[in-house]
Amino acid sequence: MDQIRCRIAPSPSGFLHIGTAKIALFNWLFARKNGGTFVLRLEDTDAERTDESFVQAMCEGFQWLGIDWDEGPPFGDEPQKGDYGPYRQSDRKAIYQQETQRLLDEGKAYKCFCTREELEAERERAQQEKRPPRYSQKCRNLSPEEVAAMGDRSYVVRFKVPDGSTEVNDLVQGTVRCENKEFDDFVIQKPNGDPIFHMAVVVDDGQMQISHVIRGDDHLTNATRHVMLFQALGYPVPEFAHLPMVLDEKGKKYSKRLHGANVLDWRNDGYLPEALINYVALLGWTPEEPNRELFTIDELLEAFVIKRWGKSAARFDRKKLDWLNGRHIRLMDTRVLMERVIPVLEEAGFNPRERSEDWLLRMTEICQEKIGTINNIIEYADFFFKEINSYEPKAVKKQYQKEGAETKLQQLIDALTPLEDWSADMIKAAFEALAEAQGEKLGAYIHPARLAFTGKSVGPGLFELAELLGKDACLERLQNALDYVNVGAPLPEVQE
Ligand code: GLU
Repeated sequence: MDQIRCRIAPSPSGFLHIGTAKIALFNWLFARKNGGTFVLRLEDTDAERTDESFVQAMCEGFQWLGIDWDEGPPFGDEPQKGDYGPYRQSDRKAIYQQETQRLLDEGKAYKCFCTREELEAERERAQQEKRPPRYSQKCRNLSPEEVAAMGDRSYVVRFKVPDGSTEVNDLVQGTVRCENKEFDDFVIQKPNGDPIFHMAVVVDDGQMQISHVIRGDDHLTNATRHVMLFQALGYPVPEFAHLPMVLDEKGKKYSKRLHGANVLDWRNDGYLPEALINYVALLGWTPEEPNRELFTIDELLEAFVIKRWGKSAARFDRKKLDWLNGRHIRLMDTRVLMERVIPVLEEAGFNPRERSEDWLLRMTEICQEKIGTINNIIEYADFFFKEINSYEPKAVKKQYQKEGAETKLQQLIDALTPLEDWSADMIKAAFEALAEAQGEKLGAYIHPARLAFTGKSVGPGLFELAELLGKDACLERLQNALDYVNVGAPLPEVQE
């Protein structure tokens, strides 16, 4: 198979889980790196567990991450893409039936009329005799006449497991060889004519000419059956790569109920898709360059090679994700970041669009160096848009409830009032001159001023934020702080 074709085949029974996103990402990066095709196929045969809203939510998750598919089912206004459709298993039933019939005609499968009661009795007998429960193969050699004599009795179709052994060559797990006699003649079609998962997945991969089956290692034990089916159906056997699951921070399977299991939780929390992609890639791939963790998508595409994929499960590490997210924010084009933070500020009830674009760009620039998530913009910039109506209590203790607080605030007012050029450089020079004249450290003025301007002890660079806040607002806020220190005057009322 010269053409690389990969796929993600989720069962849309919920949102896009972080574990599925990992598998999709590895397929996508592999396809993109090698000029291949990435296919989205929905394994939605279980009608009861499939809901259209789940399909939409899942695709939205892929879209947010930027994992685009070259072939796949209709989504939103987009029609189906690709020549190997339909791409939803629920639309492919006739194809599975046709392929099952082919196996029956070729003597590679057979109809089994055993009832549930008969099979149950067989299982119980095996249990009593302490044998592993196996199907007796009672229907394996029924003659055509015997089959015809069954009339319209309900049946399943079983695959006739051939003699010999089967090898799965897995690019991550190595070669797994199994004796075929370890396997029962497994069912490939249910009494209602629907395919069993193994049959559907192999027919799809075969007919869609998938060259690499990259999926979760929970499917490793299925792979032997799949190889047998590929061979029986006469499809080329694809390469396999079974990847470990994503574990939560405690090292357990990442439960659906945990925050962050849904990829879109990260979007809502203000994370960047590029950071999540970078992070998820590291959950199963070790870069060649020692200790390197930060990768843009283009750099990932360059460095992402199968031989560095790992087979042990990786724990989710929120701290590392946070760090990477911050790094990706620093890498962003400031104007793009500005467009992302504006809606967040609006959502919080502020009116950023009242400011000039230059102002907004500069505000974004001074926060870009500091924020860990897009949503952090609220903590780092809310004071630009509202009065200060409270001070961080810990900082009050440190800055305002100590000897000399009042004097320092008054000195600041006196030093800043005559400033004509209200630029960060000039403000800085005024602070430095004041500290120098008073024989104090610069911090002795910076910290109380920051608390007065922002109400907090952390935020963007002080001189830069003061410039953006404007002279009048800064002096007014210093005066408010002074009144607060002097006579415990209440801070301005919140203006709703
Ligand atoms: N629908 C299966 C799952 O979500 C994927 C099967 C496969 O990739 O072969 O686990």
